[in-house]
Amino acid sequence: MRVRHLNCGTMQFPGAPLVCHVLLVETANGLVLVDTGYGLLDIANPGHRLGPARAFVRPVLDPSEAAVNQVARLGYSPQDVRHILLTHLDMDHAGGLADFPHAQVHVSAGELASALAGRTLGEKLRYRTAQFAHGPRFIAHEPTGEPWLGFPAAQQLADIDPRIVMIPLPGHTRGHVAYAVQTDGRWLFHAGDSFYDRSVVDGRGRQPLTLTLQERMIAFDSRRVRDNHRRLAELAHHPDVDVFSAHDPTLFHRLARKALLCPN
Ligand SMILES: [Zn+2]
Repeated sequence: MRVRHLNCGTMQFPGAPLVCHVLLVETANGLVLVDTGYGLLDIANPGHRLGPARAFVRPVLDPSEAAVNQVARLGYSPQDVRHILLTHLDMDHAGGLADFPHAQVHVSAGELASALAGRTLGEKLRYRTAQFAHGPRFIAHEPTGEPWLGFPAAQQLADIDPRIVMIPLPGHTRGHVAYAVQTDGRWLFHAGDSFYDRSVVDGRGRQPLTLTLQERMIAFDSRRVRDNHRRLAELAHHPDVDVFSAHDPTLFHRLARKALLCPN
C-alpha cells in the first residue's frame, strides 16, 4: 500500500509557518485521502469560504498545493479518490471536499453533528457551511470498536482497507479523530490537530507561544487536549509508530522525504 505525503495548505501563521499534512493512500478500493487541506473554491473565494479566521492563520492559498491538483500531477483523476477520511471538519481540513464530490467522506458522528449545527460563535468561525454546500457524501462513524495501542474504541475501516484505523481523540473539537495507516510493518499516525508542534510529543524544545495560545483559544475541551498530548508523547516512543500532526512542517518534510527514499 503506497502512501504519499502532500502539503495542501502552507500557512504563514504568526511565529510558526505551518503546513496542511494530507495523506494520499493507494488501496485496492481506490485512492484515499486523509484530510484535504484547502481546496480550489477556498482559493477562489477566501472571504466567503474561510471567513474572518483566515486573518489569523494566514493561508497562502496556492492552487498548486490543492489536493486535486497534486492528485492530477500524479496522473490520477479526482474520481479516483473514492474515500476521504477527515480528522475533523475545521476549515483547513475540509476545504478540499468540493474538489472530490464523488468521494465518500468519513467523519465521526459527533464532529458532523457539531459542524452542521454550528450553534456557537466559535463553531461558526471554525466550521464553514460554505465548504459543505455541495452536499458531501458523509458517512458518520460512532465511537465504537476495539482498543488500539491503548487508545479505546478504535475502528478498523475494513470496507476501505483493514490497515486503516479510525481512533477517537476528542479535545481539539468535539468529535476529533486520528487515523493510523499501516504500511511496511509500521504505523503512520495522523494525529490531526490533537497537537500542533513536534516538541509536544518529542519533548525537545518548546512550542511557539502563538501556537499554544491558538490551541487553548479554540479547544473544545482543554483538559482533554492536555491528556491527548501526554498519550501521544507516549505513543511517539513506540518503535513502530510515526506520530505526526496536521501542521508541523518538520514532521511533514521528514516523513515525505522518507517515503520518497523508500516508496512503500
Ligand atoms: Zn488545523
